[in-house]
Amino acid sequence: MDIYLNGEIFDKERTLIDVIDPAVNEVVGTVPDMIEEDIDLAVAAAREAFGTWGKLSQRDRSNAIEKAAALIDEHLDELAMLLSRENGKTVGEANGEVAFTGLICKQFAELANHLYGNALPKGSDQAGDFHNATFTRRDPVGVFVGILPFNYPPALFAYKLVPALTAGNTVICKPPTDCPLAVIRMVELFYEAGVPKKALQIVTGRGSGCVGDYLSGHPGIDMISVTGSVPVGKRIYQNAAKNLTRVFCELGANDAFIVLDDADVDLAAKEVIFSRIANNGQTCCGSKRFLIHKAVKAEFIDKLIGYIKSDVRMGDPRNPESTIGCLISEKAAIEVEKQVDYTISQGAKLIYGGKRNGAFYEPTILTDVTKDMDVAKDLEIFGPVIPIIEIESDEEALAIANQSSFGLSGGVFSRNLKRAMTIASNAETCTMVINGGSDCRSPELAFGGYKKSGMGREGISRTLEEMTQEKNFVLKNVW
Ligand code: NAP
Repeated sequence: MDIYLNGEIFDKERTLIDVIDPAVNEVVGTVPDMIEEDIDLAVAAAREAFGTWGKLSQRDRSNAIEKAAALIDEHLDELAMLLSRENGKTVGEANGEVAFTGLICKQFAELANHLYGNALPKGSDQAGDFHNATFTRRDPVGVFVGILPFNYPPALFAYKLVPALTAGNTVICKPPTDCPLAVIRMVELFYEAGVPKKALQIVTGRGSGCVGDYLSGHPGIDMISVTGSVPVGKRIYQNAAKNLTRVFCELGANDAFIVLDDADVDLAAKEVIFSRIANNGQTCCGSKRFLIHKAVKAEFIDKLIGYIKSDVRMGDPRNPESTIGCLISEKAAIEVEKQVDYTISQGAKLIYGGKRNGAFYEPTILTDVTKDMDVAKDLEIFGPVIPIIEIESDEEALAIANQSSFGLSGGVFSRNLKRAMTIASNAETCTMVINGGSDCRSPELAFGGYKKSGMGREGISRTLEEMTQEKNFVLKNVW
């Protein structure tokens, strides 16, 4: 696979970073650890390409993106296998993600063809604009940088880079260092579809090294969108501030999963499998704090263990029988292990799972978790861990849910819509799901965070607007 910078294959001598298959600890590829002059070159090329790509007709740009989407569909198996190998998710999960990626590309391309401006109503004599005709148009902004996390690189490429590109910006992608390969391959498909090489570039290298700070603080870029952790989001925001670069952040979360005493407990237990255990618990809007009413707690735990035993098969990510593979790295699994041990040291009880083997970490249930423990507030465990906090009232559930400084999503289970809606309405989160877990991100949603979970919104219904700026035209004295 080739990386193109400034329209040419990048073949400079740089330190190479190994991309490891975490399931078997084997190298699956390498990427260059780029340096400052490489970033300068990428930014200059993107600026140059903006002059042509940004001036194409919307139809031409959308056609290229639609072709790329078709190529992604055609190469689905290849991309899914690559993603599974570098990431540890199962081939089935990777397949679903790549198919979803193609769909998001198509939807942005379609909608961009209908990105209308406004015609303003006639003003008043008093304001002096009674005789003026005013209308608006949405223009691209310039050079956009999309910084991706490891958990869903192709899908987040589609949510961030694709609308920016479709709307006429030129884009630079910084993929996650642990698993950049599927995105690099996808970018080749965009070139094949007709997207100019200088309009879409990839820079590789560690965010914590030169690439991260130099890129996010570069005066030649106009917008950055990052998905990642809060400390990284803050740092990028600070780097960008000195150039007044627009920043969009999708950050950490600790979503509550609330089960009231009148809930369908079986449904709730079943939802945990998708909402917490899928992708090995490494989903931003996965449910991470389980607030279960005292009256149904025992039944919930029984049923949950039943569903884990019947529906979850952790194993070789390439075995079609496996429903979950391993975490992104052994380091990440050790971190989960430490967080579980820490929560136990604070008084929680391990009643299921808790074992690690390399990068594999079992689905794990902790009980006796109290509202003052870190995991009940801001300790985000990025693994298949289910900490259960007993609640006795709707008010208590809401107070615990809202005590986190995060505010991404949440879920509430009740047969009484009014009770569920009261909690949903008062929850300090961007999204609330009734009778479902928080992992419920439709591409149409204006997805994002309240509080520390982020700034800006992402989704078909919103991102094209965020990636453009509105220009006014005033025809003076024409009416
Ligand atoms: P991360 O460590 O914050 O990294 C995210 C991206 O930022 C990576 O590409 C990383 O590069 C890069 N980066 C690191 N330092 C940087 C710097 N100084 N300047 C520029 N870029 C820098 O996050 P992660 O571990 O990949 O992802 C997990 C986190 O993302 C969790 O907290 C999760 O909740 C959050 N997340 C949020 C959403 C959402 O929509 N709200 C969605 C998914 C994930 P390297 O890979 O080279 O380190």
